[in-house]
Amino acid sequence: MGWISSKQQERDHNGQRNICSADGHPSTDEDPLVTNLDGFRIHRSHTTDPTSGFYGQQQN
Ligand SMILES: [Zn+2]
Repeated sequence: MGWISSKQQERDHNGQRNICSADGHPSTDEDPLVTNLDGFRIHRSHTTDPTSGFYGQQQN
């Protein structure tokens, strides 16, 4: 699953594991969360949207 930042680990421990750190909305079947290069969980759609600041930022 990749590297998780300490800030995201705090979010996980606060029950926000399934909440996108970019927009505050929950994960969905159509748009699951992925880990970005800064170690935060965000919707996959952010990393595939060329107009998003997270475009191409998904960890492998
Ligand atoms: Zn999102």
